[in-house]
Amino acid sequence: MATSETPSVELTTRVEMAPGIPAPRAAKLRALGLTNVGRLVAHLPFRHEREEAEVPIGELAEGVVSSARGEVTATRPVFAGRKPRFEAVLVDDSGRLDLVWFNQMWRRGQIQPGVRLLVQGQARRVGSKMQMANPRCWVLDDAKGDPEMGEPRLRPVYPAGGGLKPWEVEAAVRAVLPHALPLIEDHLPDTYRCARALPLLRDAYRMMHEPKDEQEVDDARRRLAFDELLLLQLAVFMKRAELRETLRAPALRWDERIDARVRERFSFTLTGAQERVIREIVADVTTERPTNRLVQGDVGSGKTVVALYAMLLAVASGHQAALLAPTEILAEQHFANLSATLKGSDVRTALLTGTTQDAERESVLRRLESGEIDLVVGTHALLTGRVAFKSLGAAIIDEQHRFGVHQRAALRTKGESGEKDVTPHVIVMTATPIPRTLAITLFGDLDVSTIDELPKGRTPIRTALAPVEARGRVYEAVRRRLEAGEQAYIVVPTIEGAEMGEKALIGVRDLLAELEAGPLAGRRLAALHGRLKRATREHIMARFRAGRIDALVATTVIEVGVDVPNATVIVIEHAERFGLAQLHQLRGRVGRGDKPSDCFLIADPTTEDAQSRLAAIAETTDGFALAEKDLELRGPGEVFGTRQAGVAPFKVADLVRDRELLALARKDAEAWIARSPKLGAEDESLLLRRTQKAHGEFFGLGDVG
Ligand code: ADP
Ligand code: MG
Repeated sequence: MATSETPSVELTTRVEMAPGIPAPRAAKLRALGLTNVGRLVAHLPFRHEREEAEVPIGELAEGVVSSARGEVTATRPVFAGRKPRFEAVLVDDSGRLDLVWFNQMWRRGQIQPGVRLLVQGQARRVGSKMQMANPRCWVLDDAKGDPEMGEPRLRPVYPAGGGLKPWEVEAAVRAVLPHALPLIEDHLPDTYRCARALPLLRDAYRMMHEPKDEQEVDDARRRLAFDELLLLQLAVFMKRAELRETLRAPALRWDERIDARVRERFSFTLTGAQERVIREIVADVTTERPTNRLVQGDVGSGKTVVALYAMLLAVASGHQAALLAPTEILAEQHFANLSATLKGSDVRTALLTGTTQDAERESVLRRLESGEIDLVVGTHALLTGRVAFKSLGAAIIDEQHRFGVHQRAALRTKGESGEKDVTPHVIVMTATPIPRTLAITLFGDLDVSTIDELPKGRTPIRTALAPVEARGRVYEAVRRRLEAGEQAYIVVPTIEGAEMGEKALIGVRDLLAELEAGPLAGRRLAALHGRLKRATREHIMARFRAGRIDALVATTVIEVGVDVPNATVIVIEHAERFGLAQLHQLRGRVGRGDKPSDCFLIADPTTEDAQSRLAAIAETTDGFALAEKDLELRGPGEVFGTRQAGVAPFKVADLVRDRELLALARKDAEAWIARSPKLGAEDESLLLRRTQKAHGEFFGLGDVG
């Protein structure tokens, strides 16, 4: 069907209606979510391949797309192996090139010895020969002349799938690009854009899809990555400004007398880092501006003490305090430690978790509301709607990365109309050190304090990688430790084992039986995992703490926070199955007292990834270095899980590569919002709309456009 006039194209034009896209291709594009012209243009190539001009075969270089021509001297179909392949040898005066096509047996009818071919693809050295796999290929015919090859260029390679080839996506993008580019409006005011030497948005898209050279790709990438980072940071600072305008927290009291009373509770001298962080917290919580502070510190660095300081300030000021932990075991342990620390004081405490019995729960809830409880420790259960505080002054959230960021909002109490809503000072603690770049991205509205010093007298943990064959020797070493009166953790990935081909995965139960019957016979062992009843778990932990159990055979329920200084050895079975952060957390269960500790990683790493992880963990005990490494190996989405982190993953920006860009975006966004808190200026309206569209829902920013 031919139309006489070109239909007008909008960014919202459906791909089916767009010029130059055949119907079957449009249907496949739609299936990939590329439903309209705008989305198609926003679908960016993930890399570019340099296409070189034609060269003699002898001059083919590796790693670039180039073309060459010659005569076929031999062919052969090969049916061995997983994929049938068709091979041919192409020669010219300068050399020989091996060609191979997989699953393209039909080439047999097209290519025979004596045929002249033009091929295009990436050559690769295989042994002493040059090979091109799955090249594009044209049979040359002097009568017809050369095929249309186009100029040498940088070819965009697109994410594709669903029956679409990358080049089909490319063809569709090329078809709509000239129509779409003029329609792309820039959300950055010109003066700002020029000051930062950023190209126009429409130019950036053009340079991404049809770059003249590498420099254009870099410039385009920089603009698009910067946009992602800037929009996120603008949202973060807008939200912060909004909160400061609508929320207040009770200003806590601090004076030397209160300080001395709090410190009386600690049986040790605080480290310099703890002192510094306490000063930062005191400066925060003594004002009405709600504190939002992330305290990060490596495992064992003593974050809980710092948290306790803040909580006791709240109590001393006549308010309440809450400590939220991610698991029941951890809540129970915090509660046990707190109770011991506060013994003999008149601070009234309570524990509230998902398994607190109904009667007790009702009583705790009632006393929280009436103010008869000063300090409550709990799990997420504390965040459910039914919990009302008389006056919550400080909320401490342990292991923040396990909480949805949104849950922090649940701690707020509505103020009387016209008043600001009242919120506690919130301090989140994490022992999963977050590289600073990531922290300010994910928790951008938080101030960050770092405890970067361990209490004195800790001896570093020795980490050893052991192949499965060496298990016997590992448990021999464990036995000697237990005989010396020390304790151990033995960790496996699952409660029940599993048969996995020739490699069996050992579970808690089987391992317990194996150890009791063999290497650790006569020692007091117990299993600990999430499927046990809470009372049972508590009982086991209490006995382990009291030294009446020698070794726990456990799942990762012991991953965070469990603190028993006499435990000096941890064995991790199937260590290749754990992530880097997890391994570091697990290892942090030992090395908490003054005796030297050992961590044995029994592993059978089959993937390169697992090998890098294990090498990294064996090499350093510095959680920050490991966190950086983790980020590098897995990327931020994986490290924090987008769902937990809440922030949409970036399409272009890369937090490892674009650190400097992030710092710039953050600095600019902060200044921008200070100047124009609501992005209300005329030349900011598109910027506002796009910020709201990208992040408004997550941050709850005004109307989501
Ligand atoms: P984490 O940062 O892993 O939460 P904790 O707060 O649980 O660390 O502290 C780890 C252990 O170190 C605890 O047994 C705690 O009592 C002890 N501790 C904390 N601060 C100090 C200190 N300044 N000196 C000695 N021991 C400390
Ligand atoms: Mg802790």
